Amino acid sequence: MQGGGVMTREKEIYKVTLVGSAGNLVLLTFKFVAGVLGHSAAMIADAVHSLSDFFTDLIVLVFVKVSSKPQDESHDYGHGKFETMATLFVGLALVGAAIGIIVSGAVKFAHWLGGEMLEVPGKLALWAALASIVVKELLYRYTVSKGRKLDSPAVVANAWHHRSDAYSSIGAAIGIGGAILLGERWAVLDPLASIVVGAMLLKVAWDLLKDSMGELTDMSLSAGEEKEIESIITSVPDVSEPHNLRTRRIGNRVAIESHIRMDGDLPLHIAHEHATAIERKLKERFGRDTLVTLHMEPRK
Ligand SMILES: [Zn+2]
Ligand SMILES: [Zn+2]
Repeated sequence: MQGGGVMTREKEIYKVTLVGSAGNLVLLTFKFVAGVLGHSAAMIADAVHSLSDFFTDLIVLVFVKVSSKPQDESHDYGHGKFETMATLFVGLALVGAAIGIIVSGAVKFAHWLGGEMLEVPGKLALWAALASIVVKELLYRYTVSKGRKLDSPAVVANAWHHRSDAYSSIGAAIGIGGAILLGERWAVLDPLASIVVGAMLLKVAWDLLKDSMGELTDMSLSAGEEKEIESIITSVPDVSEPHNLRTRRIGNRVAIESHIRMDGDLPLHIAHEHATAIERKLKERFGRDTLVTLHMEPRK
């Protein structure tokens, strides 16, 4: 891959992320206003979701710059884990927000059970939910087509996130719309929808926490990926028996260590060529910033 080509691709990915975060910023502002003015717990819950999405976008936009900062004296492995740490913090904040939403929905539900009348949400909240569904679907289509064109799993994953956000707004719309249509007796649909939206948020938080904690605790790549690494190693002629394979993620890069075996009578410059070929192939598969360390042994 050419250096220039790589830069434009990164810029394209940056642009797609920027469009998504601008969409989230507009939505979260509109939703908070609509949720507060429209007295809708479901819409406020959906707004918190958009707020968290906006924060994750910010992390990607800001920390991609920080974590792409090359290694320096104090960080020999680069700065990738700054991004991971930030993701962990967002995940933790999100768990708190999700639990808050669920508890306050449950409290309203309990009041309703106790015979209390709840306020019917305003039409503005419904409009916000419907607008959010449309905007999120458009963002999904835009992002997924860009992601496929750029061949970027991260961008495609982000696109699916937009679509799952639309589901969250559909949940809110059903609750708010139901409460408006059916009147005061059914105003409880709004807090019930907020509990559903809160539960979806908990799932988003869990995914963020799982991935970032895995990385911070040096979790290995998946068994499938490790198999793939071994078959890449043995695809190079004269190289066999990869063992002591160690893998982990550092931000958006991957670190791979392995022992490999070759004929003990190979001249060093040939053995070195083989090792270089393996490194090149692994970087083609796992990204050009992949850290590869190979320990060579003579085959018995
Ligand atoms: Zn989301
Ligand atoms: Zn060994």
